[in-house]
Amino acid sequence: MDRIKNIAVVAHDNCKEELLDFIDCNREALAPHRLVATGTTGRLVEDLLAENEDAGAEHKRVRRLKSGPLGGDQQLGAMISNGEVDVLFFFWDPMEPQPHDVDVKALLRLAVLYNIPTASNRSSAEFLISSTFFDHEFCIKRGRYFEYADRELKP
Ligand code: PGA
Repeated sequence: MDRIKNIAVVAHDNCKEELLDFIDCNREALAPHRLVATGTTGRLVEDLLAENEDAGAEHKRVRRLKSGPLGGDQQLGAMISNGEVDVLFFFWDPMEPQPHDVDVKALLRLAVLYNIPTASNRSSAEFLISSTFFDHEFCIKRGRYFEYADRELKP
């Protein structure tokens, strides 16, 4: 992946405040990168970035997909499989079932399958954003799972 990354941000409702605070505290580190978000998370991130005048450019960089329960998680999953997401910050709620639980699981599965650096809570997000790789090129190895496409099938 390039030095400038495509960063996906998603948070369930009870976790949105935490994600927004994380983004607010890390504006500078996020500034060079491109953000993509599920619908409601994206709206809140846009509002947050627009609060700061200097952030006009950042504001434009948030690409908003559909809201998670309306297909946004699936859109993100498709983007991962197309190589369009480099890093995922997904603050999912461990205490509340979601109407789109299956989509959440599918998104997390694809993030693991495609070996996407993923943070699911504040601590892991801070670790990830502090990594030297965050601002450098990085080669994601596609693991053994991808041999699956060439598997032999018995007639
Ligand atoms: P939302 O979706 O950003 O539209 O609230 C988040 C999610 O995937 O549940």
